[in-house]
Amino acid sequence: MELPQRVIIGFDIFPEIGRILKELHLEGSALIVSGPNVRKIVEPPLSSALNDKDHGFGFSWETISVSSFSECERISYIAKESKTSFLIGVGGGKSIDVAKLASFNSNLPFVSVPTSASHDGISSPFASVLGLRRPYSIVAKPPMAIIADIGVISSASPRLLTSGCGDLISKKTAVRDWELASKRKNDYFGKYAASLAMLSADLVLANCMSIGRRELEGVRVVVEALISAGVAAGIAGSSRPCSGSEHLFSHAMEILAPGKGLHGEKCGIGTIMMAKLHGIDHEAIREALQEIGAPTTAKEISATEDEVVEALLLAGNLRKERYTILDEAKLTSESARNLAKETRVI
Ligand SMILES: [Zn+2]
Repeated sequence: MELPQRVIIGFDIFPEIGRILKELHLEGSALIVSGPNVRKIVEPPLSSALNDKDHGFGFSWETISVSSFSECERISYIAKESKTSFLIGVGGGKSIDVAKLASFNSNLPFVSVPTSASHDGISSPFASVLGLRRPYSIVAKPPMAIIADIGVISSASPRLLTSGCGDLISKKTAVRDWELASKRKNDYFGKYAASLAMLSADLVLANCMSIGRRELEGVRVVVEALISAGVAAGIAGSSRPCSGSEHLFSHAMEILAPGKGLHGEKCGIGTIMMAKLHGIDHEAIREALQEIGAPTTAKEISATEDEVVEALLLAGNLRKERYTILDEAKLTSESARNLAKETRVI
């Protein structure tokens, strides 16, 4: 098991960051990685926290705009040249992924500072980057620490939060796929990790009204659940508790209709359809996503009916070593279209 050493969730905690990093026995110089927009917002408070006279750190800042393998290599190179002691990824997805993989490749500690709650990469050991010739995440290391400011996260775009909810609700089918793989293929199945991932999904389902109203308590539930889901993957040593057939659908959509819908939005839509294949209450999942304000149809993410059908067919062929309900459903064009229609995705 690889787990974060410390998880701090609170309000207005940026001024505390220097002290928190000192408590983790980090020293020397930090390399901060973020996107340009996030930088505009968080540079002033983060800089003044790191310039603190008692808990100060030397630091430099690198801006990235894509999560690609070449950006990871660039950041690793800068970290080495500037004798960086640790990396801080600040942002939603891309910056965290790039900083996580660059720190893993450079064998340096990594601290995750999420500014939105859009997926479980903020705490998981996995990084999703372009240019690796596969559409899914690769294994790196979990963050040494996660520092999540609910105030900052709640001011991010509501769409990012609803995407995070889709990524969480997807654990309902991911865990069932994992269980199925254990039954049919004798794959390792960890009950504790599976329960923790399932709990993250159930928490979102139980709090969908509060999340839908964007109450701070609702935002906090999503952040805690995303962190727990990432930790579940760290416990399992695999993304299995967090990623099943619904994620394969999301990856297939990204290949066939790149840029249409956020990761968690596509996972949420995928979960509705995979839930039907698993014979669980797909209507309840659809209603919860609607309550939260997440998309439940192809139209809402500007995708076409054919793209959804093609993605359903491609999904089962993306990762042959990963047994899921798609291996049992053996979808054809006709049955895939029926599935999407019956679940009102198209
Ligand atoms: Zn995901």
